[in-house]
Amino acid sequence: MVTRFEIWKEIDQEFKEALSPATKAFQCGCGKPDCWLGRVRPLREHLAEVYKIANLCIREDIVSSAASNTESSWDGVAYHIQMAASLDGLKADTAYTDDSGSYLYCDSVDDFENAHSESASKYMAALIIFNFLWSAYELAVKCSPGAGDRGKTGARARDYIGGMHVNIQKMPLFPHLLELAIAHCRRAGDSDDSGIAVELKKLEAKYPKGNPDCVGLRAGEYLRMFRNHIAHGADKVPYPDDWGWMDDGCNPIFKIYRFYGASRLILLSIQLMLLASVEKPVDCLPDYECGSEDYNGKTPEELLLGAHLARA
Ligand SMILES: [Zn+2]
Repeated sequence: MVTRFEIWKEIDQEFKEALSPATKAFQCGCGKPDCWLGRVRPLREHLAEVYKIANLCIREDIVSSAASNTESSWDGVAYHIQMAASLDGLKADTAYTDDSGSYLYCDSVDDFENAHSESASKYMAALIIFNFLWSAYELAVKCSPGAGDRGKTGARARDYIGGMHVNIQKMPLFPHLLELAIAHCRRAGDSDDSGIAVELKKLEAKYPKGNPDCVGLRAGEYLRMFRNHIAHGADKVPYPDDWGWMDDGCNPIFKIYRFYGASRLILLSIQLMLLASVEKPVDCLPDYECGSEDYNGKTPEELLLGAHLARA
């Protein structure tokens, strides 16, 4: 007999499964023991780490802010990262709007709705995390004294991060994570004449891959165009029937992975913006126990440039 505990365990597992692409999006496919992906923290740990460091900087009062009101503050940045990190599971039911009840007596409809609901659960979890992080990113730009105050936030962020060559070079995994995010997007199977495919071509022409002067601009522009694609309603939950590799090496599962690739880039960008806003020269931070992490003796620069790195 199945116990209530087992049923709940199963439901809990189903809820948590919605977040499985957050891990799969960064899984190594090359199998090399020294693969750079092995040096990256799992996304949720990365979120928690940036949240903790941001809070530490706020508590120690070492970051300056250009924010003109209390809503746009570094506290708000930390809050939105905390919300993104807090998502623990999710369940969507795409048959909810089906008044005919056809899924009740037709097996193939039922199978489709189950698979569609699973796809929707994974898509929604990725979208929620991305949306909270985009809010954090916009607030970080507004707080950053170096970001200026002209133009739309996405473009301001791009130009601001675009000027951070020195610190980007101190994050050797930044270009790798940037190219992974763009590869996720390119492999999502959007048609060649879709808005996002056209935008990707423009991105390649304007900020080409491999140009060290373009890394920050390429990241910021990619984030801006991807966010616009999402915010303007041009994206959809991939149909489960479509899942599987296409002839050109694309797979609609990347429509879910690309939220996570972009979310990573946002976190790295926030790390850079925080670092650029540290106002006083600080040798090291005071002893600060936060969970199992001990930041004692580390400078804000060390912490912020390494928040995405797995512990050795
Ligand atoms: Zn690898």
